[in-house]
Amino acid sequence: MSGDVSDRSAPPKNTGPQALPPPLARTPEEWALALKAAGVRPFHARQLFRWIQARGVIDPEQMTDLPKELRASMASLELEKTFAVDQVRRAADGTRKLLVRLRDGATVETVLIPGVSGGKNGLPSPVEPHAQVQGIDAPGALGPDDADAAAAVDDEEEEPSAGTGAAGTEFVRVTQCVSTQVGCAMGCVFCASGVAGLKRHLGADEVVAQVVAGRAELLEGERLRNIVFMGMGEPLHNYENTARSLRLLTHPEGIALSARRITVSTSGLVPEIARLGQDFAGHIGLAVSLHAADDETRSRLMPINKKYPLPVLMDALRAYPLPRRRRITIEYTLVAGQNDDRVEARKLAKLLRTIPVKINLIPMNPIGASSLGPPGMQRVLDFQQTLCDAGYSCFIRRRRGDDVSAACGQLALLGAKPKVRGFTARKPSAAG
Ligand code: SAH
Ligand code: SF4
Repeated sequence: MSGDVSDRSAPPKNTGPQALPPPLARTPEEWALALKAAGVRPFHARQLFRWIQARGVIDPEQMTDLPKELRASMASLELEKTFAVDQVRRAADGTRKLLVRLRDGATVETVLIPGVSGGKNGLPSPVEPHAQVQGIDAPGALGPDDADAAAAVDDEEEEPSAGTGAAGTEFVRVTQCVSTQVGCAMGCVFCASGVAGLKRHLGADEVVAQVVAGRAELLEGERLRNIVFMGMGEPLHNYENTARSLRLLTHPEGIALSARRITVSTSGLVPEIARLGQDFAGHIGLAVSLHAADDETRSRLMPINKKYPLPVLMDALRAYPLPRRRRITIEYTLVAGQNDDRVEARKLAKLLRTIPVKINLIPMNPIGASSLGPPGMQRVLDFQQTLCDAGYSCFIRRRRGDDVSAACGQLALLGAKPKVRGFTARKPSAAG
């Protein structure tokens, strides 16, 4: 065993390990190439992949079934330098926000959201992170029910926040929200990441790093169950890295999350929605940030709408190869005086008529860079009622967990669905 297994080693003919992705983003096959180039038996590739991806171990010394020499040469990769957790902030409700520092010093936030028990009939009270990193608000994200929306909810059955392991032990299901970029190029006017602009894409290894860091923070009895790509950045603008990280996270020899337990949120990049649908056969949960039901309003709030206006976006949603009984999640941030009128709600109801969706209403979380803000609660409830009257499953989320940090929020379910098609339910109370 001679070589260096890093991607910095000299490329052999044809294979070119320089072209290999960084270690945390490698598939078993790519590890085999790296090992081969270093004169190491490719047999160890799968072991290596499993240590990193399935067990979240990046310290070669802990990879006890690898030969000593390989462990020593692995040290040259300096995997531990991929990321460092600078800070963990805990909210009273169990949400944890991790500030992850990357190799170049850039920081991103990832949020762990344990399933909250005590919801109706023991169902989860969904929570949503709304991250802020060093003055840059990462956008809000969906919570456990939404990731479950990519799964159980869309199978028309909600899943309890706790589950039972093989040995009959209870565990708490945790949803992790990950970032895909430092900042964002999309420029949505209500979003601090958008206002800040794009600093850079994250590599797939940096998405995996957030998951490795998140798993290390799991408490006894917690299990990572869902991942939502709803932190900082537009995942589909960084398609290659997003897709690679999806492949790694769903790889059967890695953490092996079911694709339906992963949700990617997008501001509406039409070609990449099609690509995602095609590459993953529609199995990855899709959330779309709509925020308006007419082009004029949407273009004002989200400049990307000028490139992909609503008719084009709606066609892309209709074409997404959703598995049976699954729904697309529509995110609608309510901004006072901009998109929060009942008239807009009726327009939205009409727009979405032929698409299987559930709708999340998020009263805008105020950001320093803008004077825009959330509407009053009655307006939010009226908006929801209009959609529910039109037959949609529609949830309201609001900020919570402000004890984590005054500036970052965690959004939680405010009201359960008051009305579902054909059913009448009571109007939700304002008590969150
Ligand atoms: N870029 C992707 C994913 C991250 S944003 C997207 O836009 O979908 C996740 C969600 O948070 C989006 O629906 C976004 O519109 C919302 N969001 C961003 N800033 C917000 C704010 N200040 N208040 C409420 N929701 C916000
Ligand atoms: Fe923010 Fe998402 Fe818009 Fe980017 S696309 S600016 S992250 S809301």
